[in-house]
Amino acid sequence: PCDGAYQYPLLIKRLLLSGQRYAPGNEIVCADRRYDYRELNRRIARLANVLRAAGIGPGDTVAVMDWDSHRYLEAYFAVPMIGAVLHHVNVRLSVDQIGYTMAHAEDRLVLVHDDFLPIVEELAGRLPLVRGFIRLSDSDAVADTSLNSLGEYEALLDAASADCDFPDFDENSVATTFYTTGTTGNPKGVFFSHRQLVLHTLNMATTLAAHDGVPLLRSQDVYMPMTPMFHVHAWGVPYVATLLGVKQVYPGRYEPNRLVKLYREEGVTFSHGVPTVLQMVLNCDEAKDTDLGRWKLLTGGAAPTEGLVRQMSERGIGFYTGYGMSETCPLLSLTYLDARQAELPAAEQVALRMRTGVPIPLVDLRIVDEAGREVEPDDRGVGEVQVRAPWLTQGYLREPEKGAELWQGGWLHTGDVASINRDGVLQIRDRIKDVIKTGGEWISSLLLESLISRHPKVANVAVIGVPDARWDERPLALVVPAAGETLDSEMLKRHLAQFVASGEINKWAIPDDIRFVESIPVTSVGKVNKKQIRERIAQSATL
Ligand code: ADP
Repeated sequence: PCDGAYQYPLLIKRLLLSGQRYAPGNEIVCADRRYDYRELNRRIARLANVLRAAGIGPGDTVAVMDWDSHRYLEAYFAVPMIGAVLHHVNVRLSVDQIGYTMAHAEDRLVLVHDDFLPIVEELAGRLPLVRGFIRLSDSDAVADTSLNSLGEYEALLDAASADCDFPDFDENSVATTFYTTGTTGNPKGVFFSHRQLVLHTLNMATTLAAHDGVPLLRSQDVYMPMTPMFHVHAWGVPYVATLLGVKQVYPGRYEPNRLVKLYREEGVTFSHGVPTVLQMVLNCDEAKDTDLGRWKLLTGGAAPTEGLVRQMSERGIGFYTGYGMSETCPLLSLTYLDARQAELPAAEQVALRMRTGVPIPLVDLRIVDEAGREVEPDDRGVGEVQVRAPWLTQGYLREPEKGAELWQGGWLHTGDVASINRDGVLQIRDRIKDVIKTGGEWISSLLLESLISRHPKVANVAVIGVPDARWDERPLALVVPAAGETLDSEMLKRHLAQFVASGEINKWAIPDDIRFVESIPVTSVGKVNKKQIRERIAQSATL
């Protein structure tokens, strides 16, 4: 009798409305700008009107190139709410790759921060579909540009109406798109619909609230991202924070001392970031005399190192590990402690919190070995993680063959090697392409890195496999010694020998080749860049 009328489409606009309901007076903060959720709603309506006036309609793609800001948050909503597609551009890629992603996504309008004007000016000739640019500025000084600028963001918003009608449309319409970091070949575009983002947000909200003795995120918290907003929707958390009406602090360009200052001054309680970024924040000058005990930190994007986890535990920081990837929106699994585990002393919780977590609700996850069999939950069997969930990318933008490969057999193939224990807790062992295959055995590069990093004189380490005529591959370790310390390879080999004795590794896992370096190259999102390391090592071998 209700004719299905109650089944309104799951659109991103629904997420925005509830935040206002719960905590209309909570603030959005970015530099000197500070406003509440009522104003956030008005500003999103103004931005939508600006976009429409610029000729943007359903299906058009709008690119954003900005540091983490209130403007970015507004675009996360306004762009999809008018039926357009938000392309959050990874501004850390090379200029050439940025140009590739913007042309491939068929961007029509670009919201660009002054800092990135030179890049866009260089690329303008390669972007014939772009109709105009909106300038994002943190100062009153108007930068000169040769681009067809429609105006400055704040001025355009001021002039626009705060009334906007956001119609219902198909919940399966694409809402966002962005590109993987492209460790091989060109970056690949992934895309997510309104329905997918709504379901991911709802699920993440309940998971963050329920997964431990202390909820990670609820309305009383104060949120500040430390994963850039161009990296998988800042892991989807701005949508969750808005849904819950949480106070949100956007830090602009990441500068560790400023992040800690914002933590202190704005009362931040929850942030997330890749391990390398968290490590930089904890080691900066401002952090030395700041009580960090209020901070709850979610790490992901790479395995947390023991050094990092110990440091967080010693400083009283609540620490959680999440797992996911660009293709998965991203969240797949998260630290979960049951009532007994949550009561354990902090030091004993470290090992539990370092594991890759338990698959979150609605995620179907299996681990399949080379013979195509599902591995036993004994933490010894390893295989590839394959997943299904309502929020995974349906393929790669305009690359059907690669999409079919990703989804072989109806499961999304993550390319990650993992085991699972009796409690259902996942442990990522390595990426398939980083596993070292030596004499018919597999060695996890992540495990070796973790064991080497336990040496007190090691600041950073990366392990890769290098071709070997006899063994197929052998491990090679690059090690950054801690400041002022000297190390040699014999010391590290002796250090590793203790783990042979304890049965954690086999003796052939000890690298013959250990090299000392000043730094380890990282990718555009701050993860160890093994592709670049491999290339450099291969080059040095042929010199
Ligand atoms: P890229 O592949 O370019 O690094 P992503 O951000 O999509 O871009 O990275 C996803 C990958 O990061 C996963 O496939 C996995 O290998 C790794 N990863 C993510 N979270 C974790 C984690 N908690 N532990 C270990 N590896 C992780």
